[in-house]
Amino acid sequence: MRSSTSHTSTIPIQQLRGDLHGRVIAPDDAGYDEARTVFYGGIDRRPAVIVRAADASDVSQVVSLARETGHELAVRSGGHSLAGHSVSEGGIVLDLSDMKVLQIDVEGRTAWAEAGLTTGEFTTAAAAHGLATGFGDTGSVGIGGITLGGGVGFLLRKYGLTIDDLLAADVVTADGRLLRVDHDSHPDLFWAIRGGGGNFGVATRFQFRLHEVPSVVGGILILPATPDVIASFIVEADAAPEELSIIANVMTAPPMPFLPTEVHGQRVVMALMCYAGDTDAGERAVAPFRALAEPIADMVRPMPYPEIYLPEQEGYHPTGATRTMFVETIDRQAAETIIDHLEASTAMMAVAQLRVLGGAMARVPAEATAFAHRKSPIMVNVAALYEDLDEAAGHEAWVTEFAATLRQGDSGAYVNFLGDEGEERVRAAYPGSTWDRLTAIKARYDPTNVFRLNHNIPPAGR
Ligand SMILES: Cc1cc2nc3c(=O)[nH]c(=O)nc-3n(C[C@H](O)[C@H](O)[C@H](O)COP(=O)(O)OP(=O)(O)OC[C@H]3O[C@@H](n4cnc5c(N)ncnc54)[C@H](O)[C@@H]3O)c2cc1C
Repeated sequence: MRSSTSHTSTIPIQQLRGDLHGRVIAPDDAGYDEARTVFYGGIDRRPAVIVRAADASDVSQVVSLARETGHELAVRSGGHSLAGHSVSEGGIVLDLSDMKVLQIDVEGRTAWAEAGLTTGEFTTAAAAHGLATGFGDTGSVGIGGITLGGGVGFLLRKYGLTIDDLLAADVVTADGRLLRVDHDSHPDLFWAIRGGGGNFGVATRFQFRLHEVPSVVGGILILPATPDVIASFIVEADAAPEELSIIANVMTAPPMPFLPTEVHGQRVVMALMCYAGDTDAGERAVAPFRALAEPIADMVRPMPYPEIYLPEQEGYHPTGATRTMFVETIDRQAAETIIDHLEASTAMMAVAQLRVLGGAMARVPAEATAFAHRKSPIMVNVAALYEDLDEAAGHEAWVTEFAATLRQGDSGAYVNFLGDEGEERVRAAYPGSTWDRLTAIKARYDPTNVFRLNHNIPPAGR
């Protein structure tokens, strides 16, 4: 939610430069434009100041400054917020991306990770010891945002959400205090930060459990997107051993060099497969997918876990219209709906992303964390990526209609895939008593809603 900024004083830039250990970047400074750029394009906001915090003390001072002056505070880890929450118009940006200390306890299989690390950086460092924590599908996403929202990725069915491996966090709350938060210390806050996003404070570092993942059988499998292939793919993914997590992108084939030219522009299933276990068993688990149709491309192979993250293009800032939902099933009819809508889109890239859930994620009780969608079997994200901002309304209308056609009765949403879609959709992320519990905890730790530039959970009673 982008709320209007009501502040009572200007920001003392010179004083901040003296007080803080990290970098203070003001509008006239070199590097300002780069520092206010976020992952998504079409977001052009000019903050009054950007602070690249060096440590928890800087974080505490900046939070106090925002609280005392009333300036809007944007908290940024990896800058991938779909809703543009990591940069403020006229307010303060607290950028954690210089905070990258990572301490891995190889024997104890845990790691303390500062919130400025990306998921790719964490994964590469942990893999040097044959260890891993599951995050998402993209290495440039920050561990801050993905962890606080839940974390749905390649180890989901085997080890659960990222928050299921979160053991503790250090959090600066709205009053500027640094709290150690875990099952024993501030358990209410520990519950809330596992799914409640950035509403409760700034996490300066996280302690994660690590698993032995010496290698995986993984990579891209591309099949023709017929209704039968799409529907069968989902059936197979649901029936597969829990070691296998898949993300099936039904999309128009981009002109990728490894694809035959006659496939460019055709509808394909571009699936990202990840089997976290024994190589032979992994090959057996992938075989039924390979048998669904003659693969257009098959790059699934034994690999070190970090290679599951595809290379990313520097300076890539797509503008996107997106919608997220949970569904019970993708049958032949739903698959036809997907193909029809993709064919009708005029976007540079149109996609329906299908994530089969279940496994370890579903075994955690819904009330155990603030992520309550434990029993939802499939997540669907539809997106149109485009360049020309004048076309925004058309692409928004397309995703809205597409999502409405696909919905099957579950009105829930995963907070990390929400755009700026209004209060009702934030409520959808936190069904039933989860919402009431979150607003009560918010009232306890952030009664004046200092942390409001996010998918906002207002304090109870306001
Ligand atoms: C290309 C792409 C791929 C994605 N893939 C996946 C995926 O596979 N699985 C998945 O679960 N999600 C995925 N996401 C969604 C992603 O989890 C969210 O966008 C997430 O919020 C991004 O985190 P960030 O730190 O990079 O973003 P930021 O924009 O830096 O942070 C997003 C918000 O999180 C809060 N926040 C971030 N860090 C902190 C902190 N340290 N303390 C307090 N609040 C904080 C703030 O409110 C901030 O506005 C993807 C997003 C993109 C753009």
